[in-house]
Order: sequence, then structure tokens, then C-alpha cells
Amino acid sequence: MAEAPLFKRLALIGIGLIGSSVARVALQRGDIAGEIVANARTQASLDRVMELGIAHRVELDPAEAVKGADCVMLCAPVGAYAALAEAIAPHLAPGAIVTDVGSTKQSVIRDVGPLIPEGVHFVPGHPMAGTEFSGPDAGFATLFDGRWCLLTPPAGTDPEAVERIAELWRRCGSMIEVMEPAHHDRVVAIVSHLPHLIAFTICGTADDLADESRQQVLKFAAAGFRDFTRIAASDPVMWRDVFLNNREALLEMLARFTEDAQAMARAVRWGDAGYIEDKIVRSRGIRKSLIELKQA
Ligand code: NAP
Repeated sequence: MAEAPLFKRLALIGIGLIGSSVARVALQRGDIAGEIVANARTQASLDRVMELGIAHRVELDPAEAVKGADCVMLCAPVGAYAALAEAIAPHLAPGAIVTDVGSTKQSVIRDVGPLIPEGVHFVPGHPMAGTEFSGPDAGFATLFDGRWCLLTPPAGTDPEAVERIAELWRRCGSMIEVMEPAHHDRVVAIVSHLPHLIAFTICGTADDLADESRQQVLKFAAAGFRDFTRIAASDPVMWRDVFLNNREALLEMLARFTEDAQAMARAVRWGDAGYIEDKIVRSRGIRKSLIELKQA
């Protein structure tokens, strides 16, 4: 017999790629939540959620969606969190756990933390899994399989609430690491946010080329450029919000990257073959480690 669900009612505030993947795995397993209530910004998305059959109930008003839920997961772009938290705060059930999946963590603690009422727990989280697609059709139940989920509970958070959210992600297939929010933001700035910034920039640079060269870029994209275009196809609102809400760490990593890129430029200019080769050898080592860690 399946284990009793971890939560009686899970309210997903936002049900795009990430929210709908949580919904799918929860429905498939049956031991994460007894009932799933979904909220989105538009009725069109909620209609689609019902067509797909990935929630028991949908609510356009976030306040209605969280009523009676013992777990509330914010799965909207992080720039929307402050307004959402304000809307749901008075309606949260005593003892409920509010968690989230946002890609930045200090901003989430800044925007949501102060609005959490006494007697409600707050366990911020970030599943390190995703694709360049968005919306409720984009999700799939195995998205979190074998991927890390980082939890950044503020000091003083009830350890039992942290453990229940950790267990939710374990049941989604994830491995858990608890870390300081500031550390989280620096780590993701280098592993995720900077690569996206570079991808968006390089696609812009290619697009600015004279028409005839741009046609050639598209025609021969297979040689490397194509990988950047995949990342650059990601949702503009989500990434705008990530950049603006992890400003300091992203700018720090960009400054480091710019210095290293300049050093590489100097090596190319002066024909420093040893430097260039060394850098490429080191990069290959990183790729090999990722494959060994099954994170490639
Ligand atoms: P998504 O597919 O674009 O879905 C976003 C959801 O939030 C939709 O249901 C959308 O409703 C709703 N929403 C959008 N704006 C809103 C607003 N102003 N108020 C209320 N709801 C709003 O996005 P996602 O990729 O699932 O990302 C969701 C969160 O996960 C973000 O915070 C992101 O940082 C984080 N995350 C993303 C990835 C990734 O690779 N995509 C990975 C890890 C974490 P409508 O459909 O009606 O617009």
C-alpha cells in the first residue's frame, strides 16, 4: 500500500515548467500530496492544467488557492513573489509550510520572509533542474530525477519543516543540500546565471551582424553556436527577474569572467599557445567531472 501523503493539500502558486513537473510527479506517486490545487496568472493556463489533468482543482485567486493548504509552493517568476506573498499571507493556514522554487534565494527571503505570519513555516528551495521551455505543457515527472535541490532555510526555521520539504524533493527524485542563501546565490550565479547571460549576449551579437553574415550563422550553427541558442531560448520574464534579483553575485561573476576572457584575448593576440591549450585542457577536465558526477 502507498505511504500516506506527506501533505494533505499542496497549493502550487504558478504552474509552468517547474510547478507542473512537481504536480506530475506528485500525482504519479500519490505519496506527496492528497490534493493539488493550482494557481496561475491567467485563466488560459489554468484551463490547460485541467485539460492536462495535472491538478485536482484550479483557482485564479492565489488567496483562494492557499486556503486550507498545509504546503504552499511558490512557482512563479521571482519578481512576482512580493505581490503574491502579500496576497496569500492573510489566508495561510496555521502550521502550513510555505516553500518556493525560485532561482535566487536572498531576494526571496527579503521579499517573502517578512510577510510570513506567526505560526507558518518558511523553507525556501531551488530545484537545480530545468529546460528552456515554459508553461504547464513543458513539465514532466522525471525533471528532478537525480538532480540537486538546494534548501536555504533562514536561521531559526523549524527543522521538522525543513525535513518535510527535503522529503518532498527526495520523493521527486532529488538529492538535498542545505546552504546559506548568500552562498547559494554565488554558486548559481556562476553555474547558471552567468552562462545564460553569455548565451543571451552572444545571440544578440550574432543577430547584430550584417544580414549576409547572420544568414551564415544560422546556416552553419551546428558548430558550437547552436548550444548557446538553446539556453538563449529560455523564458524572458523568468530570466529578467533572476538577473535583477541576483544582481551583486551575477555582476561579481561577470567581472571575473571578463578578466579571464581578456587574459585569453591577450594570449590569442600574442600567440601564447601554451596558455590557450592549458585553458582548454582545464575545461575538458570540468566536463569530465560533470559526467562522472552524472550531472552532465
Ligand atoms: P514558467 O514555466 O514560465 O511558469 C510560470 C508560472 O507562474 C505560470 O503558471 C505563470 O502563469 C505564473 N506567473 C507568471 N507571472 C506571474 C505573476 N506575475 N503572478 C502570478 N503568477 C505568475 O516558469 P518556470 O520555468 O516554471 O519557473 C518558475 C520558477 O522556477 C521561477 O521562479 C524560476 O526562477 C524557477 N526555476 C526555473 C527553472 C527553469 O529552468 N525554468 C529552474 C529552476 C527554478 P501564466 O502561465 O498564467 O502566465
